[in-house]
Amino acid sequence: SRALSELELPPVVPESAENIVEIVASMHDVVATRLAHPRRFRASQLKALERMLEAHEQDFVDALADDLGKSGVEAKMTEIDMVRAEIDHAQLHLSEWMESKAVKIPLALHPAAAKIEPQPLGVVLVIGAWNYPLQLILAPLVASIAAGNVTVLKPSELAPATSALLGRLVPQFMDRRACAVVQGGASTSKVLLEQHFDHIFYTGGERVGKIVARAAAEHLTPVTLELGGKSPAVVMDGSSVAVARRLAFGKFMNAGQTCVAPDYVLAVGDAARHLEKQLSKAITGFYGKNPLASRDYGRIVNTAHFQRLVAMLGDGDVVVGGGYDEDTLQIEPTVITNVHPDSALLREEIFGPILPVIAVDSFDAAVRFINARPTPLVAYLFSENPRLQSSFGDQVRAGAIVHNAPSLHLAVPSLPFGGVGASGMGAYHGRHGFERLSQMRAVMGKTTVVDTLKAVYPPYTWAKSKI
Ligand code: NAD
Repeated sequence: SRALSELELPPVVPESAENIVEIVASMHDVVATRLAHPRRFRASQLKALERMLEAHEQDFVDALADDLGKSGVEAKMTEIDMVRAEIDHAQLHLSEWMESKAVKIPLALHPAAAKIEPQPLGVVLVIGAWNYPLQLILAPLVASIAAGNVTVLKPSELAPATSALLGRLVPQFMDRRACAVVQGGASTSKVLLEQHFDHIFYTGGERVGKIVARAAAEHLTPVTLELGGKSPAVVMDGSSVAVARRLAFGKFMNAGQTCVAPDYVLAVGDAARHLEKQLSKAITGFYGKNPLASRDYGRIVNTAHFQRLVAMLGDGDVVVGGGYDEDTLQIEPTVITNVHPDSALLREEIFGPILPVIAVDSFDAAVRFINARPTPLVAYLFSENPRLQSSFGDQVRAGAIVHNAPSLHLAVPSLPFGGVGASGMGAYHGRHGFERLSQMRAVMGKTTVVDTLKAVYPPYTWAKSKI
């Protein structure tokens, strides 16, 4: 692929406060004109987004390689094609989603008509994280367009090449009146968050999630918070080759910097003993004997995160991997056992290629371990036993419950994707994103030609209360 320098991307220049105020104000003016409401406009913008990805696929692949060392295939699979799938799904279902739906009316209120009519919210702010810097900006944009909103996008400054590319291409392809990119970091976000929006859609960590929610409260703006957390994977059979491969695939993709990656494994009974060996084989099978040289294996986003992760390597016994290269910001796919009980590995979201395997006595002990901690974005169970599967779902609280397949639920546009409790609030993808960014408005009508309400008007009698 070409060198990124050939893209001639300007460095990320934080938008000035004056510009931000002006951009957001102009977006509110556009909402008043109802420009983005008609189905045809929404369809045209979905098409424009599709064309942008089509025409610049290689540029996005290059930018993602520059930001995170992502392999081209992984960039296409987990970012570009994920957004494409959302666009396709929205294009297919847009008319159906936009339809108003008649609802039944209690007999005493007849004759009347009532329906639920989806309405655009207005101006939506999307703030994205760096780990999937394209998907986490454009998938919410698809929902916002489908719902008839105008959108301000704030990509993460920690993925500067993708941010700059979005800053350059979005105004070329999308209607500038209905979609703007504002670039910059925390100080830019701060100015943005002082403005009034009709919805704020934030993806990132819990600390900033609270900042966003506090700022939104000033304007009584509803928020969707797509946060992270420590997603557990309970493994019943450690000798299974397929289980180890799926764990390694979900964990080491994007060098572990995935919000739905299995954060740690709870290996039940003697599962841990066999799992180490299987994981080691799976890792070698994927990335060869020297994973740092594999072009399919990514790097850590920056030095601060690299150092945070390297410090965790001493928190237990490294049984697979453990090597790293400070120059390339890479850390080998690593498996750690005998994790110190009070270590950061067990307290913080790891968000890197380190997989602690924790032995627990029983399935029930695994469930207790999970429920004693903040609610994760997803809980994985590796078991073919339907009784355990259903018991897991009954007992564990998480944004999603997934059996035997890390991260795949994200690729199903009909499933709501989001957290609960500490892992966030609100969900999107497909129809769920459309409804999240719409007002599901109640509409009701009666006629005055026949005054059917007179039976309930004052002066009251007890007989009237029984109608
Ligand atoms: P990040 O550092 O890119 O921050 C996210 C966004 O917040 C960025 O756009 C950033 O500019 C902005 N920001 C940073 N400081 C701010 C401040 N003080 N005020 C306002 N805005 C500010 O990303 P991160 O937080 O390191 O992201 C990693 C986290 O995101 C992990 O916890 C991960 O699990 C979570 N995540 C969740 C999902 C999901 O879909 N639920 C997806 C990806 C990542």
